[in-house]
Amino acid sequence: METAKRIPFGKLGKVGVRVLDEAKLWFRCQRCGATWCSEPTPAGHVPLNYWKCPNGCNCT
Ligand SMILES: [Zn+2]
Repeated sequence: METAKRIPFGKLGKVGVRVLDEAKLWFRCQRCGATWCSEPTPAGHVPLNYWKCPNGCNCT
């Protein structure tokens, strides 16, 4: 599992996530349909766990 890594946008399909807006960091869970927005870190990077569904679908 790659739970602790910052997954590249191109590989989000493997964890069941689709990118809705790369610039604003909006994502959608393909399992439950939830959408969420991630806040960039102060350094301007996406957070490590930005790809995790708020409902926990892909965080087992
Ligand atoms: Zn989900």
